[in-house]
Amino acid sequence: MGRLVAWFGSTLVLALPSWIFAETQVQGSPRVRGSSPAISQAIEQAFERSPTFRELLAAIEGTDGIVYVHHGECGRNVLACLLLTVTQAGPNRILHIRVDPRRRGHDLMVDIGHELRHAVELLNEPGIVDSNAAHNFYQRSAAIDRYYFETQEAIETELKIDKELRQWKKQR
Ligand SMILES: [Zn+2]
Repeated sequence: MGRLVAWFGSTLVLALPSWIFAETQVQGSPRVRGSSPAISQAIEQAFERSPTFRELLAAIEGTDGIVYVHHGECGRNVLACLLLTVTQAGPNRILHIRVDPRRRGHDLMVDIGHELRHAVELLNEPGIVDSNAAHNFYQRSAAIDRYYFETQEAIETELKIDKELRQWKKQR
C-alpha cells in the first residue's frame, strides 16, 4: 500500500518542459492540470465523487502551486509519484505528478489523490522553491530511503478517497 514520492535528481528538470504544453485544463481547478483527457477526466470524476478530493483541490487553489499530472514511470514498480523537481515560473511554483498509464478509473483517481496530498505538503511550505529544498523537507520528515518518501497523511488521504469513491458507487 502506498505510493511514494520519488527523487530523480535535479537533472530531470531539464526533461520536463516538453510535457507542459500538452496539458488540458481541469474544470473548476485551474491549478491542477491533466496532461491527457483521460487524466483530466479522472480528476473531474474524483472531484464530483469524493469530498476529500474536493478539499485537496481547494487547498491547492489557495496556494501558489500549479500541479501537472502526467502519464509516466516512477521506477521500482511504483505506480504513481510526485516528483521533487519543484521549479518556479513567475509567481507560481510548478510540481509534477506521474501516474502509470495502466492505472485507470478508481485506481487512477485514488493514486492522483494520494499524490495531490504530497503536493499540498510541499506547497504549504513557502520555503520550498526548488528540488533541493523539497528533498531536504522530505529527508527530514518522511525518508524511507534515498529515493522514496512516504507520509501518514498521504496514506490516510488515499484510504479516505478510496472509501468515498466506493460509497458514491453504491449510491448509484
Ligand atoms: Zn506517498
